Amino acid sequence: MPTLTLPTLLPGVRLREVPPRLPEVAESEVVRHYTRLSQLNYSVDTGFYPLGSCTMKHNPKLNDEMAAVPGFARLHPYQAEEDVQGVLRLMYELEQALLAITGLRRATLQPAAGAHGELAGILMIKAYHRDHAGAQRDTVVIPDSAHGTNLASAAMAGYRVVELPSSPRGLIDIATLRRNLSERTAAIMLTNPNTLGLFEDDILEISDLAHRAGALCYYDGANLNAIMGKARPGDMGMDVVHVNLHKTFSTPHGGGGPGAGPVAVGPELEPYLPLPLMHRSKEGVYTLDYDRPHSIGRMKGFYGNVGVMVRAFTYILRMGADGLTQASEDAVLNANYLRARLRQLYPVPFDRVCMHEFVITAAELAAQGGSALNIAKRILDFGMHSPTIYFPLVVQEALMIEPTETEDIRTLDAFVDVMEQIGREILKDPELVRTAPHSTPVRRPDEVNAARNPVLRWSPRA
Ligand SMILES: *Cc1c(COP(=O)(O)O)cnc(C)c1O
Repeated sequence: MPTLTLPTLLPGVRLREVPPRLPEVAESEVVRHYTRLSQLNYSVDTGFYPLGSCTMKHNPKLNDEMAAVPGFARLHPYQAEEDVQGVLRLMYELEQALLAITGLRRATLQPAAGAHGELAGILMIKAYHRDHAGAQRDTVVIPDSAHGTNLASAAMAGYRVVELPSSPRGLIDIATLRRNLSERTAAIMLTNPNTLGLFEDDILEISDLAHRAGALCYYDGANLNAIMGKARPGDMGMDVVHVNLHKTFSTPHGGGGPGAGPVAVGPELEPYLPLPLMHRSKEGVYTLDYDRPHSIGRMKGFYGNVGVMVRAFTYILRMGADGLTQASEDAVLNANYLRARLRQLYPVPFDRVCMHEFVITAAELAAQGGSALNIAKRILDFGMHSPTIYFPLVVQEALMIEPTETEDIRTLDAFVDVMEQIGREILKDPELVRTAPHSTPVRRPDEVNAARNPVLRWSPRA
């Protein structure tokens, strides 16, 4: 390869004297290499992905096409507001749609993920108590069926966490809650439907009790897939709710993002929303409003993850109110179909009508080699992704299954066939299950080592 020099454009000291050690391969080999790598990835575009709590539904391709429209994709965050009216309008209207869906008053689109939204919400609660003679409130009450990020977010904001044990029905126990509320309680933070896939039956009494103790109510709405169009956190007395655009509103996710975790609030917390908020003048001009003296400040650079917002907005417009309601109905129907078909072989510890997901236990099968981990590994041999395992913590040997609304009955039946086959194998040939997977490119990776010492970059062999 000839050495390229651009002496008129680059100062001499910046120029290489030795060519870089790049691999020399033909285009055909490069194409094959990357195509092969792409085929090693399992994705929701290749098969069933019942990963509980993650809502791995089909993401319509139209969403990606809209996000790639140059008017969105090529914007620069420093462009003047009058030049980016289109995206500002989209963000304004997305906020309005989320307010209609959650039943709350104002929302920020900034947070980059659900957990980031939780932190924003808890920081707003903290600012509220500081301004309302509640600085001594240093505790957040969280049921043991909440998502794990809830505890982390409360702790990150400086709160002490009190964990509420679930009732035998897998729900918040009113008497236990009452005992744990005091003048030290800043908030109750709950996930609804909870991580067992169950709707909190006593939600109105819960929010009422919390408010009477002077606490605010945080609603983890990442599981909105089960209730949108059916019930609204605002109507349940909630003061703040985050939603996960990358789950409920269909954006490809996994592998660390990007996502978006908008946070909607009621009147008490409105003054504390992060900067900036979307504003629309009477003349229909869109601006970013920074004039908010009580705001907790910025949660994210520039506009947040706009590409995710475009996808979510496209999804909402295309589905319409009826479509979103139908999505919730189908998500709940699919989960209950699987629950009813699997419960003979894999007990469901909290066995009643579930929302968008449910949890089975492999506790009885574990002694014979059918632990949740081994079952999950064996599922991979059948070309399917596994459910979430060992979560929630309140169920031993848990497998948490969320089929989502976009799967048809053939896929659900195929999954049941696989689970039944694995059930038979555990009895007849447990070694096969214990040593699975047998057909994947990587078998049992050292996950801890992979997370702690990731190798993310190609380097030439010495
Ligand atoms: C996924 C999820 C979260 C966290 O969302 P991230 O975007 O992954 O940070 C929080 N709560 C629940 C119930 C979830 O399912």
